[in-house]
Parts: sequence; C-alpha cells; structure tokens
Amino acid sequence: MRLAQKRALVARWREEYGFPERLLAAFMAVPRERFIDASLSDEAYGDYPLPIGGGQTISQPTTVMLMTHFLAPEPDSRVLEVGAGSGYQAAVLSRLVPEGKVISVEYDAGLAETARRNLRAADAENVEVVVGDGGDGLPDRAPFDRIIVTCACPKVPGPLVAQLAEGGALVAPVSGLLGETMVRLTKEGGKVKKERLGLFSFVPLRGRHGSDG
Ligand code: SAH
Repeated sequence: MRLAQKRALVARWREEYGFPERLLAAFMAVPRERFIDASLSDEAYGDYPLPIGGGQTISQPTTVMLMTHFLAPEPDSRVLEVGAGSGYQAAVLSRLVPEGKVISVEYDAGLAETARRNLRAADAENVEVVVGDGGDGLPDRAPFDRIIVTCACPKVPGPLVAQLAEGGALVAPVSGLLGETMVRLTKEGGKVKKERLGLFSFVPLRGRHGSDG
C-alpha cells in the first residue's frame, strides 16, 4: 500500500516534472514514515504537509522534491540547510551528496534531537544537526556549495548569501502577499543572480532574520 503510493508519486513526478532518476531514487531510498509520528504512518505518502510537533510541519513530498531539484546538489556538495525539522529533507539531500556533507541548523533544540534520532533510524549518514539561528548561517563552517532554507523568510538572510560558495546555489521561500515565492540565488564571478520559481506555502523563519526578529 505504502510502496504503491510512493511509486505513484514517482510516476507522477517523472511525467509532470521530468525529475532526474537519481533524484527519484533518493526519494525511494528514504523512508518518510520514519520522520513522522507513528500514528501518522499511513499518511506518509500523502502529498500534503504533516505536523512534526512544536507547531512545525514537514513539507509535502512534492515541495521537498521540487526544492531539491531547484538546488541541484552535486555528489560532493557541502550543503547547509536552515530548518532541520523532522530531518526528512536533510535525509533526501544526504543521499544525493554521498561524497559531500549536509549540515542542518535547527532553532528548536527539541526538534533538533528528534531530527537526529529520525536520521539515525533512517541510516542517513553524512548529516549533522546543529542547534542555532540558521539565519546567521554557520560562518565557521562556510563556504557552502548549496544552501536550502525550509521556512519562509521576509528576505534571504544576508549571512547566507555571504556564506554561499562561488558557483553555488541557494534556494529559499521568501514571504510575500500571496504566500512564499521560491527564489534561487546563484553566485558566479562574485555576482549574485536571482530567479523566481513559483509560489509555495511555508511556516515562518524564527529568530534574528525572521519577521519577529
Ligand atoms: N526541513 C524540515 C521541515 C522544516 S519546517 C523537514 O524536512 O522536516 C521549518 C523548520 O524551520 C522548523 O523546524 C523550525 O523550527 C525551523 N526554523 C525556523 N526558524 C529557524 C531559524 N531561524 N533557524 C533554524 N531553524 C529554524
């Protein structure tokens, strides 16, 4: 049942978005049911967000996959995620960077612990979860080839742009009147280029670079 639902999502994405096979394989390899409460496991492959505690949600599978596609990590990329939440997005990314690393910053210490536990249960290696205000990035660990923000920010936090490596890409949902516009920044020759990739809906960024900061 669950496997059939999972395969149906993959078939839809292949047809609708033409996602590369390695991205689809990463999705197939990660058990989403390990990243949500056991009482919700029958809903693991429904294409909608699910609660993960603390008023936060795990994004719907299509959103996770589209963001990962926009980010386009390479096998050796060093990836920074802002908002570990359940750890699911980090687990998908870790499959795509077998020779690289994913460092995920989480504001809520309790959720960070949950993410670590879920990542261990799902055998996701090369992921490190750090507690902190991800809007500040991790200056000591920079630069990053890829940066992904999984909560809505009023604007892309400056420290993250500064910590993006040359040739790197950053994907973030930026709040506006109608919801969040997915934005991709790329850095080439020291210049930052911005693209808008469509409307989404996200829980807000907290801390210094959030709307209440
Ligand atoms: N990527 C997650 C879902 C993220 S939900 C997953 O796959 O499950 C958004 C998360 O961002 C929440 O866990 C929230 O606590 C976290 N968050 C909000 N503001 C943050 C900040 N300033 N720094 C780090 N994490 C933040």
